[in-house]
Amino acid sequence: MTKVYLNKKITQRIASGHPWIYNNEIDRIAGTVEPGDLVEVYFFDGQLAGRGYINPNSQITIRLLTKHRDTIDAAFFHKKIATAWAYRKQLGYVENCRLVFGEADELPALIIDKFNDYFVLQTLSYGIEKWKPAIVEAIQSIFNPKGIYERNDVPVRELEGLTQIKGFLSDPFPTEILINENGLQFYVNIETGQKTGYFLDQQDNRRAIQKIVSGADVLGAFTYTGTFEIHAAHYGAKSVLGIDISETAVEQANKNAALNKLDHIVKFEAMNAFDVLKSWGKEGRKYDVVMLDPPAFTKSRNSIDKAITGYKEINLRGMKMINSGGFLVTSSCTNLVSPELFLDTIDMAARDAKKRIRQVTYQSQSSDHPIIWGMENTHYLKFLIVEVCDR
Ligand code: SAH
Repeated sequence: MTKVYLNKKITQRIASGHPWIYNNEIDRIAGTVEPGDLVEVYFFDGQLAGRGYINPNSQITIRLLTKHRDTIDAAFFHKKIATAWAYRKQLGYVENCRLVFGEADELPALIIDKFNDYFVLQTLSYGIEKWKPAIVEAIQSIFNPKGIYERNDVPVRELEGLTQIKGFLSDPFPTEILINENGLQFYVNIETGQKTGYFLDQQDNRRAIQKIVSGADVLGAFTYTGTFEIHAAHYGAKSVLGIDISETAVEQANKNAALNKLDHIVKFEAMNAFDVLKSWGKEGRKYDVVMLDPPAFTKSRNSIDKAITGYKEINLRGMKMINSGGFLVTSSCTNLVSPELFLDTIDMAARDAKKRIRQVTYQSQSSDHPIIWGMENTHYLKFLIVEVCDR
């Protein structure tokens, strides 16, 4: 295994155990390396930092898999995945879960979502891509699944010199899967759906709306396949209207509503939420609950301001449409916007909308996506419910 030595001055990030090592943090590489090779990393003083994989073509040049001298082989990945599964089972995420959440499970750049007997994989770096056969083998042996699919159609792979692909990693199977969540059923299309097909990270937050939607007229925007809205109907909302810009998402959402026999209460329409919030707000339409779950408005630090403008606009318009004493349910799914900045943005939106707000619930992603302190990208979802009153 080639040895890599870090600079004398290292960042606090590496010192406190963050597994990423950037190009400019490396002092020297004692030998030649190919993308994906395993390397042993040392601090300047000769202390072991750990073992991981290297990609000289990537800005994040090394990602550590272990802080020790563990043998990195198929058995290593099997053990890591089994450990990740034990954690989910302990916390009750048995049927559907994010089985592996990358760095948070000490498997950098690996995502595995479990939808009952089916598994969706993302290998987002060169080093982890090389171990894909071993990872598939581990899933086969631990779960004996009905199918495994890869959703590697993700642009970030290109930064690693990998191509974007998707397809079966097991025998082919019908890719529209049926899952249960909180007593409801949802179709998940793991081939054509967004990301891995379904947003498991909101599964606990969907339960958090239970009491506030009872008897309410609800507007949902950025609904995707309608999970929050169908939960609202199930929890006793009087009427629910969901808006998403994607025709396929809306089609799937209406299908999910019918599947749960709630289509007399909840309906979905394909529209641009920005336009809807603006024009319906002007018309004076009112709801008891408005729910917003937009996509990440930014993927880079350079455009955080633009993202904040977007968050502020939809939340301000959303609040204006809420009957006094009603509720805003709002999320942000990018780690580039910190919890403090998100809450400040909601506060600003409330001031501008001339509303008084009270925090009802504030939480993050579900615990099958554990947060590692000091690893910002593991703490990404902000989920907030506020009561909204006229001033
Ligand atoms: N709440 C969903 C996830 C939403 S993901 C769930 O729990 O499953 C964000 C959604 O916003 C995507 O479905 C995307 O199609 C939609 N979207 C993006 N831009 C939009 C816009 N301008 N208007 C309406 N929907 C939009």
